[in-house]
Amino acid sequence: MGRNHKGGSKSSKMTAAVLAHYGHECHLRLAGCTYVATTRDHIIPLEHGGEDTIENCLPACRSCNSKRQDRNLAGTGARIIIVTGPPAGGKTTWIREHAGLADVTIDLDALARALMPNPLDQTHVYPPHIKTLAVAARQAAIGKAQRLYTPCRVWLIKALPTPKELAEWRGNRWPIIVIDPGREVVEARCQAERPPDWQQVVARWYDQHRDPTMQAATRINPARPDDATPTPPPVSQASKHRELTSTSTPGLQPSRPW
Ligand SMILES: [Zn+2]
Repeated sequence: MGRNHKGGSKSSKMTAAVLAHYGHECHLRLAGCTYVATTRDHIIPLEHGGEDTIENCLPACRSCNSKRQDRNLAGTGARIIIVTGPPAGGKTTWIREHAGLADVTIDLDALARALMPNPLDQTHVYPPHIKTLAVAARQAAIGKAQRLYTPCRVWLIKALPTPKELAEWRGNRWPIIVIDPGREVVEARCQAERPPDWQQVVARWYDQHRDPTMQAATRINPARPDDATPTPPPVSQASKHRELTSTSTPGLQPSRPW
């Protein structure tokens, strides 16, 4: 948080240590980002129990750092919910069954298809330039969603988030839902519906989710945010919905078709 970077030599020493450790590139990339980090951003804010350590800090430019603080304080606007899980795990279907009429879904597959005049059904394979445009559209939508003042829910789909993304999402206190119908179901679906190399993506997803902090995550039903009792998932009885705790260590490695 901005105010913690000012003053004391201890504070500037920690900022220098964070920049030396992670580099000088801003990790937040909000609107108005200068990309050159001169401050340290606390992944878990100090007022929420985060520590002033290298592990709990990432480099941020001054503009993003103060924006993030403002947004945390405002507490209004879009509620962004991350939906992750193995390929063909039923993420899109699950969101469809839980979303309200004014909700937003940010989904790379859907964006890529929207950019093609004649999308093939269910290929999940796109030319590189389509991918490039879809990724740019996704980033633009996320950036805009973060600055919405309209109260709404934004479901953000990402099968294999990078550690950097997880750190940012946790820092922003966005809930993370894991949709996982089980490895056998996913492998069978991929065999039937996806190109052959997707089995590798499935394998990678399950390897990365052996992380005990991911397994210990709690189950939630985001359709009923006030309901303390998790309800069985509607897509498949075997589905597992878990909220990753904000203190868990990122267990995912950068990879993934997208
Ligand atoms: Zn920035």
